[in-house]
Amino acid sequence: MIRRFLGRHRFMREHRWTDARLSPYIDREMSEDERLRVEAHASICPQCRRMLATLRRMLEGLRGLSRGSSSPSDLADSVIERLRGQG
Ligand SMILES: [Zn+2]
Repeated sequence: MIRRFLGRHRFMREHRWTDARLSPYIDREMSEDERLRVEAHASICPQCRRMLATLRRMLEGLRGLSRGSSSPSDLADSVIERLRGQG
């Protein structure tokens, strides 16, 4: 019971940590350690995995449309905002 609670607590902490770093992850603006941490969490969290897959797909489309007009980070942030608005 306590073990389960601790596991859940750690999962939620990693979930929040990962959720806040989806944009730099997509833009590859983070260290190798951080990337591995995001990937480790995404491998056990369907929500983050889906978010990353959607982000990648949308960013590929957006980069094709607005080349040079804004930075990849801005694009990632706006996509994340849009996804959260739908949630
Ligand atoms: Zn997660």
